[in-house]
Amino acid sequence: MDLKVENCDVVVIGAGPAGSVAAALLRQQGRQVLVLEREQFPRFSIGESLLPQSMAYLEQAGMLQVVVEAGFQYKNGAAFVRGERYTAFDFRDKHSTGWGTTYQVQRANFDHLLAQQAQRQGAEIRFQHAVTAVDLDGDKPRLTVRQADGNEYQVEAGFILDASGFGRILPRLLDLETPSNFPVRGAIFTHIEDGITAPDFDRNKIRVTVHPEHCDVWYWLIPFAGGRCSIGVVAKTAFLDQYQGSDTERLRALVNEDPASRELLANARWDTPARSIVGYSANVKSLWGKGYALLGNAGEFLDPVFSSGVTIALKSASLAAQVLQKHFSGVQVDWENEYAIPLKKGVNTFRTFVESWYTGGFQDVIFHEHQQPEIRRMISAILAGYAWDETNPYVRESKRRLKALEEICA
Ligand code: FAD
Repeated sequence: MDLKVENCDVVVIGAGPAGSVAAALLRQQGRQVLVLEREQFPRFSIGESLLPQSMAYLEQAGMLQVVVEAGFQYKNGAAFVRGERYTAFDFRDKHSTGWGTTYQVQRANFDHLLAQQAQRQGAEIRFQHAVTAVDLDGDKPRLTVRQADGNEYQVEAGFILDASGFGRILPRLLDLETPSNFPVRGAIFTHIEDGITAPDFDRNKIRVTVHPEHCDVWYWLIPFAGGRCSIGVVAKTAFLDQYQGSDTERLRALVNEDPASRELLANARWDTPARSIVGYSANVKSLWGKGYALLGNAGEFLDPVFSSGVTIALKSASLAAQVLQKHFSGVQVDWENEYAIPLKKGVNTFRTFVESWYTGGFQDVIFHEHQQPEIRRMISAILAGYAWDETNPYVRESKRRLKALEEICA
């Protein structure tokens, strides 16, 4: 039986941050936008600590005010802990211009809010509509969609933006997947009522703690408003596999291995079963093709250590919307030079710092006792998400500069 075929200017796959922001920006250009989302919102997602750079894209998309007014936990920096050493970066003190503060968000609420803002601007979002197939052979790309009741239909679009995150729909359907350069790591995480009473604990910062014995194993503690927090541990899967029991038991055992975390969370109430995710780092052969482009995690995902995922997702949405504006006005566009290369500039900055974190070099830099204020402000800017700001030498020549700094601090 032939399926019903609908038409649309742009179809966006997935209503996560990349999808909702792209949809809103395209509505501002007057495009007809259909967003197909597999889940019903609100739904859980990992990725709760935002970076200040993301505020600029929320502002562009007309979503900033609702985010500011939603009552999320204010965030002004990142604190790092290794043994007795504690160092905190205040993102308001940074090399790049732009926002120095942001929020730590429960993604179920945050993503729902962004999706509602995209709808308010005229994007149609169909929840529980999953994309299952793509056909690029015709004049226009065509998607097959399955509804929750099992019924299927097709949509022909002027262009497809794949913002399906870890769903990675087009990479899988079009054989675009290529392995990430990072080893396979996993994370175990949950939300708890943290019960933290330590007077010097700073709820306005994400706290990243290095495992006392293994420098490539680390914990995050992301305070939320209302006395709760997100807590998680990241390590190679072989390391995590040594821990037996439920995810909650494994996470508690790992948290107890770090004396400072154990003390900080002595009064915590572990009221939510932990979850785990493995092998999330991913890459693709190309971020675009005839009639489509990949946004956010549907393209490349590096690693969670510097909370860069949502910022990269929003940057990709903003860049793709700019290129599509040209495309729809009839101008020939070059997706590689106007989208993929500019996006990868910042992703590669983060990559340099992530690689150096796991080999220990960047840890020696941030925990070094004597830091030059100007260099610290350049690093603060990158940790705040300004990874595309070429006025920063650690962006312009990130590999060479960081290597030199590592040698000084080793
Ligand atoms: P997503 O937010 O994943 O949204 C994709 C959407 O597509 C989902 O709603 C999904 O239901 C939908 N979808 C999937 N398949 C289909 C389909 N077939 N049809 C229709 N819809 C579909 N980032 C940060 O910024 N800060 C952090 O602190 C942070 N911590 C992290 C910790 C861990 C352990 C991990 C693994 C990641 C972390 N990240 C963090 C990264 C962050 O989770 C992602 O980068 C971010 O969510 C990507 O946004 P997105 O819009 O690309 O995709």
